[in-house]
Formats: sequence, structure tokens, C-alpha cells
Amino acid sequence: MPTLVMKFGGTSVATLDRIRRAAKRVGREVANGYDVIVIVSAMSGETNKLVGFVEETGSFYDAREYDAVVSSGENVTAGLMALTLQEMDVPARSWQGWQVPLLTTSAHASARIEEIPTDNINGKFAEGMRVAVVAGFQGISPEGRITTLGRGGSDTTAVAFAAAFGAERCDIYTDVDGVYTTDPRITSKARKLDKISFEEMLELASLGAKVLQTRSVELAMRYNVRLRVLSSFEEMSDNAGTLVCAEEDIMESNVVAGVAYSREEAKMTLQSVEDRPGIAAAIFGPLAEAGVNVDMIVQNISDGGMTDMTFSCPVGEVARAEKAMADAKAAGDIGFAGLVADTDVAKVSIVGIGMRSHAGVAAKMFQTLRDEGVNIKVITTSEIKVSVLIDRKYMELAVQALHDAFGLEKAA
Ligand code: ADP
Ligand code: ASP
Ligand code: MG
Repeated sequence: MPTLVMKFGGTSVATLDRIRRAAKRVGREVANGYDVIVIVSAMSGETNKLVGFVEETGSFYDAREYDAVVSSGENVTAGLMALTLQEMDVPARSWQGWQVPLLTTSAHASARIEEIPTDNINGKFAEGMRVAVVAGFQGISPEGRITTLGRGGSDTTAVAFAAAFGAERCDIYTDVDGVYTTDPRITSKARKLDKISFEEMLELASLGAKVLQTRSVELAMRYNVRLRVLSSFEEMSDNAGTLVCAEEDIMESNVVAGVAYSREEAKMTLQSVEDRPGIAAAIFGPLAEAGVNVDMIVQNISDGGMTDMTFSCPVGEVARAEKAMADAKAAGDIGFAGLVADTDVAKVSIVGIGMRSHAGVAAKMFQTLRDEGVNIKVITTSEIKVSVLIDRKYMELAVQALHDAFGLEKAA
């Protein structure tokens, strides 16, 4: 029988009522003749609560135990979904990551999926089971410990299962009815896209649009998974939601496809570091080892052989970055006069494959921000995106102004 993967996010399984509603959708696909792999998230708010408990135990906790705790939310919803399906006379069984087993690296809290053996679940399908409900977000390391895939990781579980089982489609059910030109919570002018290219979705996700985890888009692109984002609250229809697909399958699109933001950013500046070969390696090596996700980097002009080095990272990693730099200084690997952390910044980005062939997109972005009186602190660009770091208090304003300036409320 053809296989379908259906993933339900936190809000879609937040109560037993909603689990029942999701289970009805699954039941309909079973009636349509599919074997279904359901991937569930924890009930909404649950993972945050568990992370909070772990953080209360101390600031430098053991990541293996963090994973043991925060993976548990998904176990509850997997069991409840299986029970609900059984109540509806749909043969269903739940699976935790280790039971599949979903094999990952041992990078706790941000593990990568290495392999998903299909034998166990296919064996059960052959025996008449119609739905495998799999706890998202979790796996097992080569050492036999429970791992998690990073926040939002159930999306990646879903796409990886779709690839491993050769599913006809991977449907991501969430609380919005598709991928929008920007987060619909920021502007009511945000427009739902019928289709978006893998490349653009990848950029939007990695720049902060949390509707899909970045890694899930990477996997979908690599294994050519038919990936759809749709609402679990609306009636089912065949062309609902947004299809994430190859660029060639999209006829017309705007130069800028969307605006993304990331609220919790920090800008760090190392003052007066020596301007010599190897200095960047001496700074960013230890930061990488400390697990700091450095994003933007700017090296300022040299003055008397000294320079300032500025970089951005998530606010939550500032303490780790400061410690890594202090340690490197104490070890004599680098010298600097001061480390200034600006923790009140946000990143706003515009993304679009049309930028490859259109000049002036960045200039228009900067003019728009100027007209709103928003100061730009750091800029980075790539072939299909421009990102700026600005004061956090202007973030919403900037997103709305850019959405207007690039005419995103209207289709091309
Ligand atoms: P789930 O719990 O179902 O995984 P998430 O909260 O992780 O849901 O992702 C859905 C949310 O992503 C939406 O509620 C929306 O606020 C946010 N979002 C951010 N950017 C976008 C975008 N471009 N299109 C749609 N939703 C977006
Ligand atoms: N429950 C996890 C989280 O909140 C994984 C997910 O929902 O995708 O990050
Ligand atoms: Mg999510």
C-alpha cells in the first residue's frame, strides 16, 4: 500500500479533543488506502516547560539528561494518538525513537539523523497495522542514549521518515494554513503562498521562520520529498496548504518571496584584537568548540595594527561566548581590550531567488529602513538573501515596512 507521512505539531495535539480531530484526518487517509506514519510533537507548551525544569537545575547541565527530559513530551502524545486511533477501530501502534530505532549522531540537543531502518515498522504494516504513530524530535545515539534533534525537530523526523519509507507525500499539519510571505502574527497583510521553492524555504527557515525546521527542508530537498504545510484546523482539500517544491515547478514568483525575522539575537564586539594572520581562526575556533552558533561576522578596518571583530549569535549563547573568549584570552591565544555584548538586537531578512537576476534589491531594503528611521547595525548578503541586524524594538516595524515595500501582499 502507498505510504503517507502526516506530522502534527504542538497546537494540533494540544488537547484530547484536538488529538481526536487529528486522528479523524488520519482515519480518512487510511480509508483512502494509505498506510500512514504519523509523527507527533509534544502538546503545545510542554517542551518549553520541560526545558524550563532542566534549566532550573543549573546553568551548565549534562546534555544527555536534557535530552532524556525534553524528549518525554512526545512519548505522551504518541501513546494518546495511538489510543485515540484504536478507539476509532484503526489498527495503530506507537513507537518511541529508540524502538524504531531512529539512529542519530551523539550531538545531544541537536543530533542529526543517520539512519531509519524500516524493517520493524514495515513488518507491522505487513501484519495489518495501518498507522505507526512515531514520537517526533527524538532518536538514539550510537552509545544507546536518547537524543533530540533541536527545537522544532519533529518536522525533520517527518521528512526523514517520508524519505526512508518512500512516502507519496509528507504533510506537516500546523496552526497556520501554509507558508506565508512573512509570519502572519506580524502583519495581517502576510499572504499564503501556494508554492515555495526548497531554496527559498531553506533560507526563510534558517533565518527564523519557524514554520519548518531548517534541517527538514534540507532533507526534503536532498531526497526530493513532496512536502506540504497545511492547517490541522481547516477542512481537508487536495490543494490546500503550501507545497515546498523544486524551483522549476514554480511559474511566477516575486523577486522577494518572503521576509523572515529572528528576535533573540545578540551582537558581540571584541575590541582591539591584533590584525594578523590566524586571528579569525583563534577567535571563531573556540566559539565553535563552545557550541556558539555564530551567524554574521564583520571585521572592521585596522587602526595601528589593531581591529574590532563583530559577530552575532543567539542571545541564549552570549554567556557561553563570553566564557570561550575569556578562556582563550587567559590561555594567551588572543588578546582584546573588551568584549561588548548588545543583547537588544533582532535580525530581519528578505529572501528570494529573483534576487539572482535583479539588481537594487538590497538598496531598496536599506532605503525602506531609512525611511522608517531604523538604523542598521550589521549587514550580510548571499545570492538569495539580505539580512540586517537592527534594534529589537524596531523589528515588527521593519518586517511590515519591507513587506509593503516589496509588494508581498500581492502575487506576481
Ligand atoms: P508547530 O507546533 O505546528 O510545529 P510552529 O509554532 O513550530 O508550529 O510553527 C508555526 C508558526 O510559525 C506559525 O504559527 C507562525 O507564527 C510561524 N511562522 C513564522 N514565519 C512563518 C511564515 N513565513 N509562514 C507561516 N508561519 C510562519
Ligand atoms: N516538541 C519539540 C519542540 O517544541 C519538537 C517539535 O515540536 O517539533 O521543539
Ligand atoms: Mg514547529
